[in-house]
Amino acid sequence: MDRVDDIRTRREALASALCRTDSLLDSFESVLKQDFGPEEHKRRDFSYTAEKIIPDEEPEPEPRKKDEGEDERLNMSYRDLCSDAMGCTRCQLCKTRTNVVFGTGCTERPVVMVIGEGPGENEDLQGLPFVGKAGIYLDSWLKAISLSRETNVYITNTVKCRPPQNRDPYPDEKSACFAYLKQQIELIRPQSILCLGRPASTLMTGQTESSMGALRGRFFFFDGIPMICTYHPAAVLRDLSLKRPVWEDLKKLARYLGLDVAGGKS
Ligand code: URA
Repeated sequence: MDRVDDIRTRREALASALCRTDSLLDSFESVLKQDFGPEEHKRRDFSYTAEKIIPDEEPEPEPRKKDEGEDERLNMSYRDLCSDAMGCTRCQLCKTRTNVVFGTGCTERPVVMVIGEGPGENEDLQGLPFVGKAGIYLDSWLKAISLSRETNVYITNTVKCRPPQNRDPYPDEKSACFAYLKQQIELIRPQSILCLGRPASTLMTGQTESSMGALRGRFFFFDGIPMICTYHPAAVLRDLSLKRPVWEDLKKLARYLGLDVAGGKS
């Protein structure tokens, strides 16, 4: 790793850690405002502050708004969830699909969970994600960083049914399917997530207005899981100038996970 890269990686890790402490700092600030002032001694020993921020009796958290069908899915296994999805009629894509394309690969703590946009024609016909040209290309990316869908990767999409004519999934289709994706992540517990293309990257980071150029190559966290975004293999097949940034992103992920990189240079 060259020095500039090393500094960038360390800065990004630090930035992610600071994001996580940001909310605690907000609480800290409000406690300081309320409780200190003349009583300076309380400042020196922060145990008082810590008690205020994390009280013995934690207030009941606001109940999180549940996704449609979440209660029924709560105690499901991966197989139950998959068979539930096979009969899904939650959005209009069910009317035009041949098969539900739920996901494939390692379902027990894979090293990487890959999230694409949605099934294309081949995927719809075979019921498996990334089996066309883009999928073959994706397999070569994975191989270059010592990964494979047969052993240590799980592959899925933001939507499990093919959008007609391969159009982008509509927001209501993505949000209907997001509940499945979240549940897949919860059940499979991947060690990291790799988002391919803008639809998957904006959905997973919540940065709906950001370009792919702005999202790629940085670490995010989804539910505590480190996540990196890069260009979609289909986009790279159309524009070969994207090959280089993708390789940088893959190497960054490999470095983070301690994986061997083709050619030995990370
Ligand atoms: N493109 C995707 O985003 N997903 C697939 O499964 C196939 C192509």
